[in-house]
Amino acid sequence: MDRRNIELKIFGLIAGMAAGMILLAGFALTVATRHADARERDYEQTLVGNGLRQRIEEIQTGLNPYVIWDEAIHKLDNRFDQAWASQNIGASVGGALGYEAAFVLDAADKPIYAHVAGKDVSSTTFDRYAFQASSLVNDVRAIESDPKKVAALHAVHKSRVELVRGEPVLITVSLIRPDLKARTKGPRGPLLVTSTPVAKIMVKAFSERFLLRDAAIAVVAADAVDAAVAQSVLGRSADGRRIVLRWVPRRPGAELLRSATPMLAIAILAAAMGSFLLFRTTRRAAKKLLLSEAEAKHLALHDPLTGLANRTLFTDRLVHAHALLRRKPGHIGVLCIDLDRFKEVNDTYGHDAGDQLIREVARRLTAICRDTDTICRLGGDEFAIIQPDTSPAGAASLAQRVVDGLSGEVDLSIGRAVLSCSVGVSVVADADQGQAELLRQADVALYRAKEAGRGRFAFFEPEMDAALRLRKSLERDLRAALEHDELTVAYQPLTDARGEMVGVEALARWNHPERGEISPGIFIPLAESCGLIGPVGAAVFRRACYDSLRWSGLEVSVNVSAIQLTNPDFIDEIVATLAETSARAETFMLEITETALLKDGDGVHDALRRLKRLGFRLALDDFGTGYASLAYLRRHPIDKLKIDRSFVASLPGNGEAMAVASAIVSLAKSLGLKTTAEGVETQNQMDALVKLGCVEFQGYLLGRPMPAEAIASTPSMVRVR
Ligand code: C2E
Ligand code: CA
Ligand code: CA
Repeated sequence: MDRRNIELKIFGLIAGMAAGMILLAGFALTVATRHADARERDYEQTLVGNGLRQRIEEIQTGLNPYVIWDEAIHKLDNRFDQAWASQNIGASVGGALGYEAAFVLDAADKPIYAHVAGKDVSSTTFDRYAFQASSLVNDVRAIESDPKKVAALHAVHKSRVELVRGEPVLITVSLIRPDLKARTKGPRGPLLVTSTPVAKIMVKAFSERFLLRDAAIAVVAADAVDAAVAQSVLGRSADGRRIVLRWVPRRPGAELLRSATPMLAIAILAAAMGSFLLFRTTRRAAKKLLLSEAEAKHLALHDPLTGLANRTLFTDRLVHAHALLRRKPGHIGVLCIDLDRFKEVNDTYGHDAGDQLIREVARRLTAICRDTDTICRLGGDEFAIIQPDTSPAGAASLAQRVVDGLSGEVDLSIGRAVLSCSVGVSVVADADQGQAELLRQADVALYRAKEAGRGRFAFFEPEMDAALRLRKSLERDLRAALEHDELTVAYQPLTDARGEMVGVEALARWNHPERGEISPGIFIPLAESCGLIGPVGAAVFRRACYDSLRWSGLEVSVNVSAIQLTNPDFIDEIVATLAETSARAETFMLEITETALLKDGDGVHDALRRLKRLGFRLALDDFGTGYASLAYLRRHPIDKLKIDRSFVASLPGNGEAMAVASAIVSLAKSLGLKTTAEGVETQNQMDALVKLGCVEFQGYLLGRPMPAEAIASTPSMVRVR
């Protein structure tokens, strides 16, 4: 997913959430507002409803003096008096009380007096009201006919709002009754029917009493609903419509909402701003996340120390190069590069220096290669290059450039290191050959380059495979042999000029379960190149320590590889072995080669001094084959030189060999060192060496390497003539 996409998603989410919250709050507020408003309306309606009933009662009560009156029975029922009616009903009820119309009905419900709009009018005017009043009249008569009800009531009134000629009026029918002792003619009394427009008597009064806004009388359809107004039903028209008092109710919810609106606006603004800020921080976080994802991706595919491709990316590119080869014929080259003696730099100068060197190598490789090449650090000091679209000549040229580029001195913060490398090259034109195979072949070629002496490159050749396989299997077997303590030690006598044994040299032996005896000339270099020389040397030394305890007065020589000397733990291990076996350092002569001194470095020099301090003596092995530099002999605490057997072999016939041997002996003498001649096979050689002044001898003539048990019982083999 790309960044825009993620941003859009985050934005959508936050905006959606904010909008949702605002909507929800808005909805809740609206519901609450509506609810509050509805409750207020209901309340007002109930209040007005009660008020209405009260008002009607008031109106009715106002009529009582006129309808509970002996004189009215006399003048209206016993004997109708038009003038009395006009004065007491018309002028009082219609005039003083303010009724629009007032009628008197006789016991038979026939109108006998009518007063409308301030004037006496013909009784027939009642016809306008007859229909609307009829049910009220019936109701009153029903009460009148029930003596119990009449007795319970002080006055009998029935009122209702009716539509008369389109105008809502309150019609009240009241039974006229005596207040003292008057009697009606018949069983029924006369009735007073009054009518007054509702608007006049109610709207104003209610508006004032209940503070109603825009109160008005209206005639509405029965099912009419209007949420904006409140209404109280006053009555019903003949056609079923409702006569109502309606007004605009107070809306506390809406008012609250209105007064809260500025606050709400601020809250919404704040929410929007908050969302924006949230979006911004989230976007930043997401950006960081994506960056770190890219970083992680880079880390997953690159070596952290050098920034070069790692094995994963390398394999990927190799697969890719193979795919290209299928489409476009050509060659792919793979170079495996191994730094020569990198481990020594690491061991001598420390890991920081090692890292520095690796980085420098990466820098140089990057400068040597083209952009299309993939440079990879496979691990440790191993590098590889994929050269797509090349030729064998192109690969060879690159390999040479790498060998040249990675040779010479390198300045490290801690000192100078000498850099060189070996390169194995594999070139294929065949897309069907697996990419893993390509890398393996380059690796095989690399082994060959190293074997051939390092600082060079080698192309893969099919016969290398067999040799490498053998080497690999030997390496595996050597490891197993060490684990199972299968290496043994043979001892070869060292004698004085009379053939008297004065010492022995411990020589490692490996009897391979299938291959038989394997020469140390093979497995010692193998152990040195695959990092096993430490364990091999330690095993031999431990064995020699134990064996030395059997012999008294015999000096035991033990070979120490140059690689062992550069190991910082070497001396501690030696000391531990001495302690473990109770052997004495003074018994031992440690044989080192000149190449060990060549490695030089203060590390080796210090190691030699410490060994000397521990009581060991030191011999320079194979002397004469290397530099034979006098400076080394002076500098290091050497006790003895061993003349290499290649010189001894050509004695005494070869004049040059005689000269070298003679020179070595006199050199040793002048430095106060002993000399031992190696590889003495004949009596003639022995005699010649004795003549030259050599004092110690080793060779088949004097004794072959043999098991420790055989040493104790060995008599002197040769007599001096
Ligand atoms: P080196 O230290 O020069 O050991 C002497 C070698 O010469 C031995 O070979 C020995 O068998 C051989 N030799 C002795 N007398 C004669 C002779 O009269 N004629 C001939 N032609 N050879 C003779 P070996 O045992 O095969 O060892 C070969 C090399 O392996 C040794 O050479 C030494 O460099 C190395 N080596 C053996 N054991 C050890 C060990 O424990 N540690 C280390 N670092 N190297 C060892
Ligand atoms: Ca030796
Ligand atoms: Ca030797």
